[in-house]
Amino acid sequence: MDWKTQLKNNITTADEVNEALNWNLSEDDNIKLKNIIDRYPMSIPRYYLSLINRDDPDDPIRKLCVPSILETDMSGSFDTSGEASNTVINGLQHKYKQTAMYLSTNRCAMYCRHCFRKRLVGVVNDDEINKNFDDVVNYVRIHEEITNVLVSGGDSFMNSNEKIRKILDEFMKIDHIDFIRFGTRIPVVLPQRIYEDDELLDILQNYNNIKQIYVVTHFNHPNEITEESNRAVEALRNIGIVVRNQTVLLKGINDNPDTMADLMNSLTKIGVTPYYIFQCRPVSGVKNQFQVPFKKAVRIIDETKSKLSGISKSFKYAMSHTTGKIEIVGNLSEDEIIFKYHQAKYTKNQGRIMIIKVEDNQAWLPEKI
Ligand code: SF4
Repeated sequence: MDWKTQLKNNITTADEVNEALNWNLSEDDNIKLKNIIDRYPMSIPRYYLSLINRDDPDDPIRKLCVPSILETDMSGSFDTSGEASNTVINGLQHKYKQTAMYLSTNRCAMYCRHCFRKRLVGVVNDDEINKNFDDVVNYVRIHEEITNVLVSGGDSFMNSNEKIRKILDEFMKIDHIDFIRFGTRIPVVLPQRIYEDDELLDILQNYNNIKQIYVVTHFNHPNEITEESNRAVEALRNIGIVVRNQTVLLKGINDNPDTMADLMNSLTKIGVTPYYIFQCRPVSGVKNQFQVPFKKAVRIIDETKSKLSGISKSFKYAMSHTTGKIEIVGNLSEDEIIFKYHQAKYTKNQGRIMIIKVEDNQAWLPEKI
């Protein structure tokens, strides 16, 4: 099945997932699942579904793509890092001086259950997505402090090839733009979209000859590194694209040092440099399902690092707070953790180090720090 046909045949309904995984859900459970899917869409490529180990009730791949009843837990919020307040025009965020982030689509090849943009991915209301690309280009053009654009969404590689070409063409014409980043989980969930699509690869290669393109992808578990995902990465690397990875630390998925070290080592082996490990945000429907408390998380990251070479541990363990990207440096004492601004929204915070006392179950920092 080619990637377009595969996408059309994604698993999207409770009945389909029930059948595909040989579940015998009770009518009551089936209704609950349908209600969750109505609110937070499900869409699973057949390829990704094939990675599920059906004999393992705790299979991490299943948890990443199939809804759980825990998604009905509404504690937390839908905008945990102040995206609304950083929106300068519809679908364009400008939080850090050098970087503009363009919300190009609200569609993804798969709707990850831990997504921090749960409020907008796959839903009918796409108000937050840019509808007038010229406005975005004009904003970037007149803001000479912007050196790079992150094309985000949704999944930026869900845009048509024509739109991707247009995005690259317009941004690369701007003198003060040095490089473009695409945020995409497609190499992980639908790698065929990359290695089967020569037209996409040609477009990327042509523009990469003008200015550097980075693909920032999102592997969360070693089981996602397969022959197919490796082929997608290789296809990108062969045309000179730099591929880096962001992982989210997720309870029940990768919250142990052996799994996390295996993931970081395996990524390095296929030429994907680990970039960030993110603290999971307190998003409604995600928080109580996936967040790992700081104290436990710091122990996991420290032990993970003890198993890694320099390149494999070249990531920062960080959180995307309303006030900036904050590195979680490590424990100072049993109850105190050292944090440091890696990127600050306000100049006064740049590089600031904070020693903060945390509770045993605390997994996020308050708004005011
Ligand atoms: S691909 Fe990215 S934006 Fe889309 S659901 Fe997954 S994490 Fe969210």
